[in-house]
Amino acid sequence: MQRRAVLVGLASLPVFARQVRAQAPSGPHSLPPLPYPTNALEPHIDQRTMEIHHGRHHQAYVNNLNAALKDHGEAAKLPLHELLAKLGELPEGIRTAVRNNGGGHANHTMFWEVMGPGGGQPAGALKDAIDRDFGGLDKLQEQFNAAGLRVFGSGWVFVTVDAAGKLAIVTRPNQDTPLMEGGRVLFGNDVWEHAYYLLYQNRRGDYLKAWWNVVNWQKVGERYAAAQAGKLTI
Ligand code: MN
Repeated sequence: MQRRAVLVGLASLPVFARQVRAQAPSGPHSLPPLPYPTNALEPHIDQRTMEIHHGRHHQAYVNNLNAALKDHGEAAKLPLHELLAKLGELPEGIRTAVRNNGGGHANHTMFWEVMGPGGGQPAGALKDAIDRDFGGLDKLQEQFNAAGLRVFGSGWVFVTVDAAGKLAIVTRPNQDTPLMEGGRVLFGNDVWEHAYYLLYQNRRGDYLKAWWNVVNWQKVGERYAAAQAGKLTI
């Protein structure tokens, strides 16, 4: 009985996938291309994880967000950060879909942007803010990793930046983001198992430590400057 159900389920999958692709509206949101090749973050994040994470997980958030907005023209016109800040004003029927998939789209767009093969170190106003608010990069990393380890199940660990440039570590479950409270994310790490399981299995702590090797500090510095200028969106 159970076996037959599984077989039927598998047999219908390709058809279902084709239908979803055919029906998914192509906008208003779209998958941003990765700013580097999928193998650029090796050995810390493996190529296969990047391919699946960007090409399938993130693409699915985009497709599902577009599908949710299909019959809601006003909401579809909003830039993503404004859409997420106005979740409470959306029709109840699409609120959860926009929260999960719009949040997923924003979080992953930020995530690809703040990583890169170059690494580097925080500099200038960003370094000053890290020293002031955390007592140095080592302390920031220690607190960030501890917070990331404490996330139960799927979620994110972020460093937020407020209008005065002050930094703070926060976590959110699922695909929630501080953008949903009108906040701004300086950078963040994805602690869903899909982000690290192929290479690290259950060792989330090892992933959190290794992740610092692929943080693009120049890009984070640009985001910090944009936040201070009131121009940081997602
Ligand atoms: Mn993810």
